[in-house]
Amino acid sequence: MNIEDVKIYEYDVVVVGAGLAGLAAAKELTEAGKKTAVITKLHPLRSHSGAAQGGINAALSEDDSVELHMFDTVKGSDYLGDQDVIEMMCKGAPETIRWAERMGAAFSREKDGTIAIRPFGGQSKPRACYASDRTGLTMLQTIYEQADRAGIEVFDEWYAADLLYEDGKVKGIAAFNLRDSQPAIFNAKATIFATGGYGRAYKVNSNAHANTGDALSMVARKGLPLEDMEFVQFHPSGLGGSGILISEAARGEGAWLFNSEGERFMKKYAPNVQELASRDVVSRAIMQEVREGRGVGPNDDAVFMDLSHIDEEIILKKLPELRELAITFQGLDMLKEPILISATAHYSMGGIPVTKRCQVRKSPTELVEGFYAAGECSCISVHGANRLGANSLLEALFFGREAGKAILEDLDSLSFSKAKTKDAQTMIDEYNWVKNNNGDERVPALREELQNSMSNDAGVFRTEESLSRQIEKLGELYKRYKNIRIDDKSSTFNTDLQEAIELGHMLDFSLFIVKGGLERRESRGAHYRDDHTERDDANFLKHTFATLRDGYTIEQEYAEVVLGHFKPEARTY
Ligand SMILES: Cc1cc2nc3c(=O)[nH]c(=O)nc-3n(C[C@H](O)[C@H](O)[C@H](O)COP(=O)(O)OP(=O)(O)OC[C@H]3O[C@@H](n4cnc5c(N)ncnc54)[C@H](O)[C@@H]3O)c2cc1C
Repeated sequence: MNIEDVKIYEYDVVVVGAGLAGLAAAKELTEAGKKTAVITKLHPLRSHSGAAQGGINAALSEDDSVELHMFDTVKGSDYLGDQDVIEMMCKGAPETIRWAERMGAAFSREKDGTIAIRPFGGQSKPRACYASDRTGLTMLQTIYEQADRAGIEVFDEWYAADLLYEDGKVKGIAAFNLRDSQPAIFNAKATIFATGGYGRAYKVNSNAHANTGDALSMVARKGLPLEDMEFVQFHPSGLGGSGILISEAARGEGAWLFNSEGERFMKKYAPNVQELASRDVVSRAIMQEVREGRGVGPNDDAVFMDLSHIDEEIILKKLPELRELAITFQGLDMLKEPILISATAHYSMGGIPVTKRCQVRKSPTELVEGFYAAGECSCISVHGANRLGANSLLEALFFGREAGKAILEDLDSLSFSKAKTKDAQTMIDEYNWVKNNNGDERVPALREELQNSMSNDAGVFRTEESLSRQIEKLGELYKRYKNIRIDDKSSTFNTDLQEAIELGHMLDFSLFIVKGGLERRESRGAHYRDDHTERDDANFLKHTFATLRDGYTIEQEYAEVVLGHFKPEARTY
């Protein structure tokens, strides 16, 4: 890749990511007449948003309320969620559903024609609106169609590789075309990152292969902070072995969990709501049963999920994809027999810190000019230490739109700083280094070591010892990464090269997860320390802001949580 070949494209706004968050933002901006480019390494319809099965929350039923939705979200977050943004999102939820519906999203219906809702974990009332068990796909197809109709300009199969950041301001990104390695700069007044989650750092995970946290690393390499990275959600029901998701909709529709002794063990851990406790609680319960020798399956590392007592028609109508998944990957038919499940890395509560207007923060008190983020890659902190099921599609759609609106307000006051081809140098150097480096380490092998060690030592249960060991391990993997070699030297769809760059990104953000977890000597939400089992509000009711220095050292500071109406109290289910 050569600097002479760099093309420079000029836009008002460049959006990186074409999942629900990116498309929602791009649609707002394009409809308002702003010249907007959407850069995505996948075709938009392959974004992970399309894999969401279970639902999207809104307090729609008569016995539910925005206040209850807020309370459940705050409690679910283990009081780390910022209550001002939680209020915004929960208030905006019913309108977000109606907006999606008006665009053509075909929600499932009750007999009286109203939008159907189902119960989800950690919720006092059923409020997950759904489209069978393909909710994300329905949303993504709908919004993509409508954004396309509005005329969004998509650069798909383009890989965003570097953030153009200088003097407190972002002027766009450097990217290359995966088809032919054409390098380019997308130069804009405003840039939005909407690049989704990063569960691929774990061995057993529910995430798409593309969820490698590229944007987090691009931000971190500029010395900008990441927030609350220690909070990684493990979903209770991944298919045993593969981690492929069996949506919470299964428990919502009434599934039971059993250990090897035939005991419905959730009675011990969450006596009131049992299987419908929040995700962190159920995941830990499953892993505790396994740790104490009551696991099932070929390696005794799973538990049974039983749906055979549920009406056949409900399963066939409301959970058809889940049934297919279990038949395909386990040969087990949930109509007749229990399936095997265990915890799977699923969602990232932490990310790029943003204000309630989705502006990226340079520190707890300062902003980066011209830079915004929304959706799973961001940390606006509506989920705090643990996200409730069906709140994430909502976050992506609601704050994706909010990011678009905020930019429309800001655009006139943002300056355009013209990019030069040399601004692509960092990307070109990285690309050429990966292609030509001639060491003896293999990317798939290093990635597997990363995933195994993250699962073992920075997973559902953590200790000072395990996290310190993982810091050492990451140091070793960084060194070995410098010594990689790839075989494919072509410039056309070079997935070897792409995966090598992505592994570099995964190493970076993993370091934040581990360091954050090591310093947070308490248990809160998804972060559980065997050696500090209690929540410690006196010392840790605060957000972590962490910054990468010298390539491998992490510096941390803390920021206040926005509290409000709901005072921290013990969290039981
Ligand atoms: C299996 C599964 C089921 C889920 N079920 C639910 C559910 O029922 N309810 C719920 O609320 N939430 C659910 N979630 C979570 C929810 O789907 C996601 O958090 C949400 O869809 C994220 O949307 P997003 O727009 O932020 O990112 P995504 O939809 O992940 O999109 C990310 C985009 O960024 C692009 N991108 C990334 N890196 C680069 C790069 N370097 N260069 C160019 N482009 C890049 C990708 O191409 C993609 O277009 C589920 C998640 C999973 C994994």
